[in-house]
Amino acid sequence: MDSKAFFRLTCGLYIITSAHDGRSVGCVINTATQVTSSPKQIMIAVNKENFTASAILKTKAFGIMVLTEDVPMELIGTFGFHSSRDTDKFEGLDTATDSLGLPYLTRHCSARFSCRVQNAVDVGTHYLFIGLVEDSQCLEEKPAITYDYYHKVKKGLTPPKASSYMEPAADTPKETASWKCSICGYIYEGEELPADFVCPICGRGAEFFQRI
Ligand code: FE
Repeated sequence: MDSKAFFRLTCGLYIITSAHDGRSVGCVINTATQVTSSPKQIMIAVNKENFTASAILKTKAFGIMVLTEDVPMELIGTFGFHSSRDTDKFEGLDTATDSLGLPYLTRHCSARFSCRVQNAVDVGTHYLFIGLVEDSQCLEEKPAITYDYYHKVKKGLTPPKASSYMEPAADTPKETASWKCSICGYIYEGEELPADFVCPICGRGAEFFQRI
């Protein structure tokens, strides 16, 4: 099997939302696809370990936000590398509320959908949630970000040789010392990592970095 073939599947970058005990939860996913047009249904794949997955199972509702290319990496960091279990990811963000009572971002969002779960399929590590679209809306007139763009164009804040696409070759010589965030993979180039360094992607401190 050629594992690189999987990287040629196109996908985007989305934030999904739901609710738990009256508060908003959400996370980043890269799998969201319209599966039927009549009725309009969208399928998303969510890792079972994501707090948002358990919230969707309970509420049987979820929102999808299609992120724009100019989405700040800090926003990806908040929703992609922290857990709603112990973090209010929406704090300080510009949001509005949809017809299902779920929040959506009014910036960095190309479109949004409000869905009621019709079916949840256990596929091992993930649940596939098939949702009936109750409402949808176009927001900012900006290009939607693809997962490819996220890696290739925004690579200034992602590891140059440790992206999702390819691990660096074992025999690649390192010319300078660097430090890798064990949470999100961000690379800090430099001999010494400042003790008060904070990862610009996931917000973790220096203790989460390992010298490579
Ligand atoms: Fe990080």
